[in-house]
Amino acid sequence: MKPRKVPLRKCVACQQMMPKKELIRVVKTPQDEVQIDLTGKKSGRGAYLCGKLACFKLAHKSKALDRALKQAVHADIYQQLAQDFIRVEDDFLANKERDEDEE
Ligand SMILES: [Zn+2]
Repeated sequence: MKPRKVPLRKCVACQQMMPKKELIRVVKTPQDEVQIDLTGKKSGRGAYLCGKLACFKLAHKSKALDRALKQAVHADIYQQLAQDFIRVEDDFLANKERDEDEE
């Protein structure tokens, strides 16, 4: 048993604490653009979502993302994010599996 610190973050939609690598980071850049940040390294205010479309939809409906980012997220941006979300979901899941293999 090796003690490991897993950084936990909360999904803004379902409020569950999850290991950071199992969450998708959404970031508001200093230019006030809202983007999905798969690297986790973009600067700006971040919010985390489970890598599940259901949580993304919930965040949209409840405006949880707006609150977390302290900015009204425009419907166009949600639409863009939804597309990006679907696009990154496979990569995200693939990365996750790869990480698990390394252990
Ligand atoms: Zn969630």
